Amino acid sequence: MSRLENAGVSREIREHFNEVVELRRRLHQHPEPGFKEERTAALIRAKLRGWGVPFRPLCGTGTVALLEGARPGPTILIRADMDGLPIREETGVPYASKVPGMMHACGHDGHVAMALLAAKLLRKRRASMRGNVKVMFQPAEEGPGGARPMVEAGVLERPAVSAAFAIHLRNDLAVGKVGVSDGPVYASSDDFRITVTGKGGHAGRPHRAVDPVVAAAQIITASQNIVSRQVDPTTGAVVTFGTLQGGTKANIIPDRVEMQGTIRTFGEKLRRQVARDLARIGKNVAAALRSKVDFEYRPRYPSVVNDPALAERVRTVLRGALGARALVHQGRSMAGEDMAFVLREVPGVYLFVGSMNRDKGLDQPHHCARYNFDEAALGVGVQVWLSLAGALLGV
Ligand SMILES: [Zn+2]
Ligand SMILES: [Zn+2]
Repeated sequence: MSRLENAGVSREIREHFNEVVELRRRLHQHPEPGFKEERTAALIRAKLRGWGVPFRPLCGTGTVALLEGARPGPTILIRADMDGLPIREETGVPYASKVPGMMHACGHDGHVAMALLAAKLLRKRRASMRGNVKVMFQPAEEGPGGARPMVEAGVLERPAVSAAFAIHLRNDLAVGKVGVSDGPVYASSDDFRITVTGKGGHAGRPHRAVDPVVAAAQIITASQNIVSRQVDPTTGAVVTFGTLQGGTKANIIPDRVEMQGTIRTFGEKLRRQVARDLARIGKNVAAALRSKVDFEYRPRYPSVVNDPALAERVRTVLRGALGARALVHQGRSMAGEDMAFVLREVPGVYLFVGSMNRDKGLDQPHHCARYNFDEAALGVGVQVWLSLAGALLGV
């Protein structure tokens, strides 16, 4: 029995396995940055056109394909992100990136290839489908974020989407395994900037100045109190200062210090609380030390939250298709993901497909120059898409 067959991948998908691998490798050779996925979009659209799958471009390089079932029913959405990363590839594989300084180092080439083959195979099932499948090829997941503009441009309308799903390959999960969890999957991710203003002066006469360096240090220290003392310890949150800039010379007290950082939380209530806590600490600590602060808060991504009932449904479907041993519980991550903007509007599930194979040395982390995955995961991913569509649309 082949490895794919063993993993529960159907004969139909196994017969098309070379095609999904070939697609992935073509995409892998031409990684493109967010909103500049021109070549990627052209390949996606040419394939869809060739297979007779209707689609429309959305938000520049984004594409929405629609597979309409012959019978009425709900519309489900499957999402694939398309962008590469500014990393110089060091895998040495024959299909390595041909674009200097750019690499598909997160597996988005695989996501696109899986969604494309799923679209091709679902097209053959339209006569028996009760409802529709929308496929969302999304730009710029790695930033600045393509999901939000696509939602605003109506990706969830005409026809209205009732449930949405996304797969991410995962190189710390063995190939053949699938991770589906309830509730929060990825944290919300927001940035802040705190500018502390004092009064510059001679380092030897600090009493004549107002030192913003000392105030900034106290603000950083006091902020550690947020996660340790003000957030429910069973929930978890992160406040990280990533930059600290100020001053020009050892014997000068500067006028100003600027700090930038990020806040990660689960859930909107805690998200607002942590931002408020940080603003209050900044303002009051600075005031106590005779400085002033300017607090700038930039909300980026909400948290990705799986719908528990749908997650249970997905597990049941995948247990049937791939076997009970394939399913694992996947813990939460403090990383951010812009699929959050889709799952904020409609219920859905963000799931992980294992792509690690230690025996073949395919276990490097995502966003690493030596990242590569076991392509058998592509077969499993297509199986996930077909099994889900089949179960939800009664094929
Ligand atoms: Zn990534
Ligand atoms: Zn990614």
